[in-house]
Amino acid sequence: MRNIKTAFLSIHRLLQASRRHRARSLSACRLFSSYGSSPKVCIVGGGPAGFYTAQHLLKARGDMFVDIYERLPVPFGLVRFGVAPDHPEVKNVINTFTQTAQHERCSFLGNVSIGTDVSVEELKKAYHAVVLSYGAEGNRSMGVSGENLAGVFSARDFVGWYNGLPINKELLPDLNCETAVVLGQGNVALDVARILLSPLDFLKRTDITQQALESLKASKVRRILIVGRRGPLQIACTIKEVREMINLPETKADMLPGDFEGIAEALKDLPRPRKRLTELMLKTLKVDEGGQKASNLWGFRFLRSPVKLLPDADGKRVAGIRLAVNKLEGSGEEARAVPTGQTQDLECGLLISSIGYKSLPIDPSVPFDPHTSVVPNDMGRVSQTAGLYCSGWVKRGPTGVIATTMNDSFETARILVKDMESGPLDLSVNKAGSQEITMLLQTRGVKPVSFSEWEKINSEEVRRGEALGKPREKVLDVEEMLKIAWT
Ligand SMILES: Cc1cc2nc3c(=O)[nH]c(=O)nc-3n(C[C@H](O)[C@H](O)[C@H](O)COP(=O)(O)OP(=O)(O)OC[C@H]3O[C@@H](n4cnc5c(N)ncnc54)[C@H](O)[C@@H]3O)c2cc1C
Repeated sequence: MRNIKTAFLSIHRLLQASRRHRARSLSACRLFSSYGSSPKVCIVGGGPAGFYTAQHLLKARGDMFVDIYERLPVPFGLVRFGVAPDHPEVKNVINTFTQTAQHERCSFLGNVSIGTDVSVEELKKAYHAVVLSYGAEGNRSMGVSGENLAGVFSARDFVGWYNGLPINKELLPDLNCETAVVLGQGNVALDVARILLSPLDFLKRTDITQQALESLKASKVRRILIVGRRGPLQIACTIKEVREMINLPETKADMLPGDFEGIAEALKDLPRPRKRLTELMLKTLKVDEGGQKASNLWGFRFLRSPVKLLPDADGKRVAGIRLAVNKLEGSGEEARAVPTGQTQDLECGLLISSIGYKSLPIDPSVPFDPHTSVVPNDMGRVSQTAGLYCSGWVKRGPTGVIATTMNDSFETARILVKDMESGPLDLSVNKAGSQEITMLLQTRGVKPVSFSEWEKINSEEVRRGEALGKPREKVLDVEEMLKIAWT
């Protein structure tokens, strides 16, 4: 017994000594920090890329200080404003991001727009390295006439509207039509279709905004066609999202058997995930042929590209879309859609274009490739710009899930640490970090929102949600967010 007690005491003493050592190292870092000699890195953008880059940097070096600058007063980027409200499990990554933000060597500075409030050059002066993780806030345009008609929306805006993105709060789409067309066949297209056809009783228990819920309550949309330029073997969504469409209550798949000719024969040569997805679509076709009854319909339409949007008699609202009928040249993932010269018109009163996002240039001093719409880089090192790095969608383009973003952010952080240890980043130069930037911001009348101030907004949203029986009710207005943060 005495031996056990002695062993326990020694372990306890060791733990205490290690804690004391950690505290001493941290205060030494802080001391260094105030004299400016510990490595200081700032990250532009508080989405997954920003948080994962910060997480890896903090772990890699015990003396590193990381500041995350975010344009909005609230963190988490597309996890908050993109991920569908009925996918709460995807949002669990917020717990990891919160731990990172609360790390003693990490600061979150919301409400600061880089490129407007502070330039990237100013950040470069104040930090040893700057990581651009500002995502892809632009839309790919369809490039056809009629894009400005009422009733035509980008998926980015539509998703932003039901997810409470402040800039989209006044979108208020008119859902007073029976047929909606969604252009694009990726997961975002299916998110949009699913939200439009989901039962309200289910949606009202999610964090979808109350105003979106009210609009959906009045919605007359009963049929959604999800249009893609290539065939079933090239579809970009994943099986989970298709299964969710198939399982929607009171909803029936409306596919065209002709679109699936020859597809069953191709199954044997497909890689496993694509094979399973194709089998599911073929199975859906059979159920569909069985003639189930349902009040809502959804279906894929393949080998079609937009030619023009068709206006109603007043020329103001969308009434349909003219599509070019395509054929495929080549096969598999590489197959190209080529117009046959035929066209087809589809009637619709709502058109949502979900053909992709794109990054935008942030600051004239930062290289930007207008063709690929990314910051040109080599494994996260921005081309020809020492001290500048990038991660996430602005690094590799707007594709892939959060896990893909995590991997490429870790890669950028690894490269950055390597450059600190053996490469071009000179740590002997003192950098003032956020001290210098917050002083600049003060002179410009910009007040950052700290992470603990965001937590006040978070608590208020959860409180408002509880009153409505939902996980949260998002604050839609930036001024209101700031008021909550600072009172
Ligand atoms: C509609 C939609 C649904 C999705 N659903 C899923 C899903 O269910 N599961 C999944 O795994 N993945 C999903 N994804 C993909 C996932 O969201 C991305 O992989 C990920 O968000 C990319 O991270 P990011 O940090 O590069 O960009 P973002 O998440 O866009 O973060 C960028 C951040 O930078 C900020 N910012 C922009 N400009 C500035 C500036 N000038 N100054 C300061 N800050 C700035 C933005 O406000 C934003 O917070 C979805 C994507 C979309 C579009």
